[in-house]
Amino acid sequence: MVVPKIMTIVRINPDNAKMIILDNDYLLIQNDTTPMNELKPSIVKQLIASNPLYNKKVPAGEQFLDIAEFFCDSIQGENFIGWPSSFLRLQHCTLYCIWCDTKSVWREGNPYSFGDLFQLMENPEYNLINKFKDGQHLILTGGSPLRQQNSLLAFFDKFKQRYGFIPYLEIENECTLMPDPRMVDLIQLWNNSPKLSHSENKKSLRYKPEVIRLLSGLPNSWFKFVISDEADWSEIQTDFLDKGLIRKDQLVLMPLAGDRNELHKNRGMVLEMAIKNNIRYCSREHVELWDIVTGA
Ligand code: SF4
Repeated sequence: MVVPKIMTIVRINPDNAKMIILDNDYLLIQNDTTPMNELKPSIVKQLIASNPLYNKKVPAGEQFLDIAEFFCDSIQGENFIGWPSSFLRLQHCTLYCIWCDTKSVWREGNPYSFGDLFQLMENPEYNLINKFKDGQHLILTGGSPLRQQNSLLAFFDKFKQRYGFIPYLEIENECTLMPDPRMVDLIQLWNNSPKLSHSENKKSLRYKPEVIRLLSGLPNSWFKFVISDEADWSEIQTDFLDKGLIRKDQLVLMPLAGDRNELHKNRGMVLEMAIKNNIRYCSREHVELWDIVTGA
């Protein structure tokens, strides 16, 4: 199996971009004035890099997941920000949001057998099984993780048989597919993100009241709304709060932010909206830290 070349960069100070770069045994300390958006992620390690030219196959009959990318030693950038986290980005999505910042990643991918994934996680270079035992979260993201929920359930069954535990699992969920009850039991934190009209998806595709109602009944479920302008609040009010689909205390408002400039431009308006309506505000910390770099 081809494992992508690893380059690890540790940023000491994001303002002057002074870095230690570790590339295998090579250690370099430098003052670098490279703009932040040209920097690679900090200490993040890529287990599977997004690579549309890598045409991987799995032997017939083997169980697999279609993976777009997999990286560890990053942080959760939204909702409960800051937890050390690994991200397993599943290929494919049920929607196509006009401003999606990861569509260049989740549209591409390759099938990875369960054995491939265990081998990567057991690689001493990543030491991932111990990191999961020690509390690093595993975030299932996409695209749409629930599009592969049957395979995910089978994968974590095998994971438990092999290692005797399940990592702390978060899921990023666009709220269009009904979760299997076993998935409800498996996931410890549901980061739901129903899409509003500014995503330019057809309402019949993006708005599934029965799915949202089930998710809002879970004690570990939050709803992050991407906000692009002040009119978005009335859509949240009409389609979600007035219909009793979501409780106010489950709501989180986040600025639309394809890059750091857009985050800074929009956050004041969203912060005001959150405070005015007594809703939790949330930044996009990965965008703040790493701007448009994916795999971070
Ligand atoms: S649901 Fe999420 S991953 Fe899918 S297109 Fe929209 S923003 Fe992108």
